[in-house]
Amino acid sequence: MASAKVNYATHKARIRWNPQVIDIREILTRINSVGYTPKPFIAEAHEEQLKVAQRDLLLRFGTAAFFSMQLMLYSVAMYAGYFQGIGEGTKLFFQIIALLLTTPVLFYSGMPFISGTVRGLRNLTFNMDVLIFTGAGSAYLYSIYQIFAGGEVYFDTSAMIITLILHGRYIEAGAKGRASSHIAGLLALNPKEARKIVRSQESGVKSQGDEDLINGEAYGVRTETVPVASIQRGDLIQITPGERIPLDGIVNEGSSEVDESMLTGESKPVSKRAGSEVFCGTQNLYGHIVFEVKRTGSDTVLSQIIRTVEDAQARRAPVQALADRVVGYFVPAVLILSFLTGMMWFVYGSAVTDSIMNAVSVLVIACPCALGLATPLAILLGTSVGASRGILIKGGDIIERAKDIDTVVLDKTGTITEGKPELATCYGIGISDAEALSLASSLERLSEHSIAKAIIQDGGVVTPYTVTNFAAYPGQGIRGDIDGKSVLIGSRRYIETAGIFKTTDDVLAPEMLSVIESQEISGSTVVFLSYDGKLAGVFAISDRVREEAGEAVAMMQKMGHDVTMITGDNRNTALTVADRISLDNVKVMAEKYPVEKAEAIRKMQEDGRKVIMVGDGINDAPALVQADVGIAMGRATDIALESADMVLMRSDLRLVSDAIKLSGKTYRTIKQNLFWAFAYNMVALPLAAAGMLHPIFAAIAMTLSSLSVVGNSMRLKRG
Ligand code: ADP
Ligand code: MG
Repeated sequence: MASAKVNYATHKARIRWNPQVIDIREILTRINSVGYTPKPFIAEAHEEQLKVAQRDLLLRFGTAAFFSMQLMLYSVAMYAGYFQGIGEGTKLFFQIIALLLTTPVLFYSGMPFISGTVRGLRNLTFNMDVLIFTGAGSAYLYSIYQIFAGGEVYFDTSAMIITLILHGRYIEAGAKGRASSHIAGLLALNPKEARKIVRSQESGVKSQGDEDLINGEAYGVRTETVPVASIQRGDLIQITPGERIPLDGIVNEGSSEVDESMLTGESKPVSKRAGSEVFCGTQNLYGHIVFEVKRTGSDTVLSQIIRTVEDAQARRAPVQALADRVVGYFVPAVLILSFLTGMMWFVYGSAVTDSIMNAVSVLVIACPCALGLATPLAILLGTSVGASRGILIKGGDIIERAKDIDTVVLDKTGTITEGKPELATCYGIGISDAEALSLASSLERLSEHSIAKAIIQDGGVVTPYTVTNFAAYPGQGIRGDIDGKSVLIGSRRYIETAGIFKTTDDVLAPEMLSVIESQEISGSTVVFLSYDGKLAGVFAISDRVREEAGEAVAMMQKMGHDVTMITGDNRNTALTVADRISLDNVKVMAEKYPVEKAEAIRKMQEDGRKVIMVGDGINDAPALVQADVGIAMGRATDIALESADMVLMRSDLRLVSDAIKLSGKTYRTIKQNLFWAFAYNMVALPLAAAGMLHPIFAAIAMTLSSLSVVGNSMRLKRG
């Protein structure tokens, strides 16, 4: 098996295997042999399955509660002394009724505990079900023995243990359900049908240009409602006001405003016109649009978000591994302790009944029922709350790492700046300005960098030259051949190392030097063009600093984090940008290649720092991986998403602090949960061993401990 991820909260497992090594049937048989029943995952059916499971739990709990109530009528009367002096026959009659009432509670309602026990024993892992079933079961068996022996019976103990603990489980299931409802909500956003545009054969349309797809009837264009599953890349889809967008794509025609809050957490509508990207699951507001499908099925951003959140919940935090290990030792220890308690009471002269009841109390009270839930529930809620605010966290382990952060490293281009650069000035050297621009834009056409977009925008009118041997060096520049002559565009350092010129002063006229310097000081990125081994042009590209960047950095500093800006760009430019966001006490690292960014982070880590890196591009990938927590900014390229631990769905730097705060809060909740899960046990265990706690009160205490954990975790949902 290559890998297996199990999400206990959503009852899902994702398994990768090599069919040449192992057969799927073999995998399924093995899953079966450890006591689980594998079923194929069908999104729609899954929701239903979860609901069925919860209803099943409710039915078992309801049955247990009903029979226990009848049983308690008899028990309470007996404890109150009303049964004193009744005849042996009457007593036996009530005892048999008690047996009849308890049997369905133990064997129907208690089934989850029985199967859990069987599963546990089969794998030799002692789980909590073992404790509960042993407790309830021994009270039951002992009572049956007492019927024959003519003593008192304790069926009520057995039934109440099952009833109370089932109550706790039912509440837990509800909490899990509500916590994962964010995913369910996202799934529900996937429309089932869409209106696809079909062109009839006899359409009068000659070329694409003169189509009017929105009011296209007249041109022989009509729409057809088809299942979304049948739609393919390249299909044209029509969207009317108020409709949900069924797939990812690019707007072809029309304009509108779209509510993307479900993906980004941003409630302000985003305006769309031809060329804008639209995303599956978002809500079109007022306008008509036609868009071309770019991504379908599991490739859509929505599907990716759902997958990420689910995988995150399946990834276990180290604290959970610790908790699980504790349970592994705890359960056998408790079994032994309970046995010893019973023995001690018996040896020191107590009645068999008291000895057994005290042993059962120890079993029940020691059960760390809430422990299994303490970590996963908090992580489930933490990741869901994050996702609803536009922060995708890829796992519980990341939450644990993010809470220790003391250093934030921010990339400049696209992270502190908007990443929507514009060409400020353009000079040809030895060639005309226009010629320099058309050489540059021919080359940049092949680059995905934001600088490329700025240059193409201005040089886009001319017919581009054919470029051969194109190569991109992330964080440095690009190169290619035009008419057999080599062309390079990139940073000063890139051009210099390519041997085009050694120092700027050698080649550049003093006026040009001062222009470059003033552009850099004004915060623009200056890139250099070389043609046929000679410097041929200089371009200044300006990019606005994000509106919220200053505030975001201030927030980070207020939280006590050290902030560093790192960039592949020129030092002067970097300093100016840092100045704009009033980064006092902020270190600036400029002219760094991608691997050097990662290297810089490694150095900080060697100094004992815990580093968050926030970046957006391919050039940031090594640094994102190196950092303790890598955060990719919204609309980041896919590679950055892969290497990041968290993804900000909306380009808002303030989310970085929010993400750190949320992680801290989630981690605190986990610790509190673990405390509540254990606190009751620790206080009540000595009482139980000392014979001062009836098993029923032990069960009540356990339920309270589960309730504390659920209640405490739910606080994450608020604020
Ligand atoms: P940052 O580290 O600030 O995010 P990058 O690493 O993306 O910036 O880029 C660093 C520098 O490399 C840019 O300032 C630019 O000089 C140069 N560069 C990278 N790619 C290109 C390109 N496609 N065209 C021109 N210059 C480029
Ligand atoms: Mg960048």
